[in-house]
Amino acid sequence: MKAARMHEVGAPLVLEEMPRPHAAGTDVVVKVAACGMVPNLANVLANWETWYPHEPLPPRPAIFGLDPVGVIEEVGEQVVNVSVGDRVYVNPSRSCGACHHCSSGHAQQCAYWTFAGYFGFSNKSLAMYEKYPHGGFCEYMLAPQAAIVPIPEDLDFHRATRLGYLGTAYAGLKKFGPLTGKTLMVHGGTGTLGVGATLLALAMGVSKIYAVARGVPLLERLRQLDPARVEVFSNVDGGTADWVHSRTGGRGVDFMLDTLGAVASLDAMKDAMRGISRGGMLVNIGGTAGELGVDVKWFMDNQIRLAGSAWFTSAEGMELANMIGSGALDVSGLVPKVWPLEQINEAINGVASSDGGFTSYLVEIVDS
Ligand SMILES: [Zn+2]
Repeated sequence: MKAARMHEVGAPLVLEEMPRPHAAGTDVVVKVAACGMVPNLANVLANWETWYPHEPLPPRPAIFGLDPVGVIEEVGEQVVNVSVGDRVYVNPSRSCGACHHCSSGHAQQCAYWTFAGYFGFSNKSLAMYEKYPHGGFCEYMLAPQAAIVPIPEDLDFHRATRLGYLGTAYAGLKKFGPLTGKTLMVHGGTGTLGVGATLLALAMGVSKIYAVARGVPLLERLRQLDPARVEVFSNVDGGTADWVHSRTGGRGVDFMLDTLGAVASLDAMKDAMRGISRGGMLVNIGGTAGELGVDVKWFMDNQIRLAGSAWFTSAEGMELANMIGSGALDVSGLVPKVWPLEQINEAINGVASSDGGFTSYLVEIVDS
């Protein structure tokens, strides 16, 4: 099969032939149709092991590709609930499948938790990469049946590659509890996570979204999603918490979702979180790193909760696929930007787009 592999960190991927995997036991093989990708992935891969030495990339030569979709080609002899020919999203979440966390449906809390086709969360991930070496930048990938998220007929492969980012936002929003009638600040509203979070929160019944980002044109585009329920603010113009208080009669918001990326300043988060009301909650789903330095008594006095949320479960992926398939979640405003696998290096260098989170980046794998 064709596979794009990284032989050396920082070097371009090499498109080459290698043996295709076969399914046994509770595993399946998926014929990949397309794979969503992280914007500017080349920069991430080149720097990841320097930024986060405790989170290993897969051993080289490595097949990356975080958000694959395709058709089940082969099933192992123990598989009963998915079949050859099923259209699926492959959740890249890999875990041991046997510990207390995995057995409770919390794979992300497993000591072996790993992103197939991206990076692992500890050295234990190396054991998972031995068993599941494939990301989505190849023609056929091996995956455990627990990673399979069936997608409805009316959800096309291009839109389905966005499930990773949407799922991350969805699992983060669910941690607040019911959103109906509540107010939500989306910090980093115009990025890939932020746009998805805004669409989802509107679908989930939030009364008002206060979206914060930098660029005004994209903020205006976000506001147009639902002008009655989305208010926007450019933090170039001043402090976020002050603005939120000015818009909420001094009360602040019930919930804040932080979606900012790895290069964002923590000062922006620290300022914005002061816009959370008493009894409110902050969930962080972005890549911002560093020491927060916030007075812990503020959390106590105001009964504020802070939670991290990483990725999502296959069950949450199924809920999301059904929401999109039924029209409960409208993602038609997300525009796919597609490259063929043959142009993988151009794709992972992230050709600049001025559309922020309204663009979905993906690679298409076409039969040769
Ligand atoms: Zn486990």
